[in-house]
Amino acid sequence: MTEPRAILIRGARLLDPARGRDEPGDLYILNGRFAEPPPAPPPGAEVIEAAGLVAAPGFIDLHVHLREPGDEDAETIETGCRAAVRGGRTTVVAMPNTRPPMDTPDRVAGLIRRAEEIGLCRVLPAACITRGRAGGTLAPLAELAAAGACAFTDDGSTVPSDDVMRRAMEQAAALSRPILDHAQAQDLERRGVMHEGLYSARWGLPGIPSAAEVDIVRRDIRLARETGGHLHIQHVSAAESVELLRRARAEGLPVSGEVTPHHLALTDADVRPDDARWKMNPPLRGKADRAALVRAVEEGVIGVLATDHAPHTAAAKARGFREAPFGVIGLETAVGVTYTRLVVNGRMSALDWVRCCTVGPARVLGLPDPALAPGAPADLVLLDLDSERTVSAGEFRSKSRNTPFEGWRVKGRAVRTFLGGRTVFME
Ligand SMILES: [Zn+2]
Repeated sequence: MTEPRAILIRGARLLDPARGRDEPGDLYILNGRFAEPPPAPPPGAEVIEAAGLVAAPGFIDLHVHLREPGDEDAETIETGCRAAVRGGRTTVVAMPNTRPPMDTPDRVAGLIRRAEEIGLCRVLPAACITRGRAGGTLAPLAELAAAGACAFTDDGSTVPSDDVMRRAMEQAAALSRPILDHAQAQDLERRGVMHEGLYSARWGLPGIPSAAEVDIVRRDIRLARETGGHLHIQHVSAAESVELLRRARAEGLPVSGEVTPHHLALTDADVRPDDARWKMNPPLRGKADRAALVRAVEEGVIGVLATDHAPHTAAAKARGFREAPFGVIGLETAVGVTYTRLVVNGRMSALDWVRCCTVGPARVLGLPDPALAPGAPADLVLLDLDSERTVSAGEFRSKSRNTPFEGWRVKGRAVRTFLGGRTVFME
């Protein structure tokens, strides 16, 4: 769509965590960047009356699976970007477990090129830690960083060798890139399909104990202490992991963590053993774990909300709980689910919630704090946080439908998203 180069947004509630601001105000976009709002709209400017809406910096999602190349029937870079901007995200970090995986500079550069052609959302590739994501030998981290990799992860698998992980953290530190850590000990997770506990026993399904995560979190915090590298724990699921994170951060280590909407909203009691929409990795854990995760976000021990958007076709998810692949989608439900669970339920302020979706993830990547400040790129989301809607997967822009939130009543959704001043989603 052709867009006026000047846009005046009037009377929004501005949530700008980088500057600690939660107040009504106007925003002005000129040539793709925020500028001081003029007293009256200049001729030719588009004027958006935004009373009743929230304006926040575009959200950054540290954990998204775009599935291209290799699984384009589940998602493509384009459909993933469409889903992202419908979910208020203007930057996503793409996980490298594509087929083939993102372990060569060419593939990293190719993803960046393709995302730029599409032009909907900033896509920052995370590259593999090890060649083929196989855990054995290090990928060429320096070349991958030079090609544009923003971080390294073998997401989907843990790096089993302490020595390989140590060298990865040393090199990543030298390259000023974080390690995004899928923490799950392979010998403990093997063949499990849900959290090991009361419900796995009840349903007769093999369990994945919390210890599978906790053991690796403990190991990698030790390696972060020894190497000085930035360690970011992905999709934290267990209460004990939260305690390890809390102590590491109190010690001043460069350790951070993220939590997904589904781990904040659901427990293993919600799992339907005949429906793989409740199957993901790490699995939904117990009530005490969920309470610890909510408290961790409330207290700032975990400062990042990330979806782990993991699209799968209906056919793949129909293979039954034991055989279906792990993962749920989240880009188009994250705003509603997390705003309702955290802010509507009174656990944190709307400003702190926005911080976990903007400044928190930006700092993991070493990016400047996103802000509604003159001069900053106009990556912006307008949100309706008041009206309640029913989640309906039929409306998703994602190619996939594997959500456990179908039919949920939630408050909070993006109604318009801007990337560098261009409208990339409008309800
Ligand atoms: Zn993972």
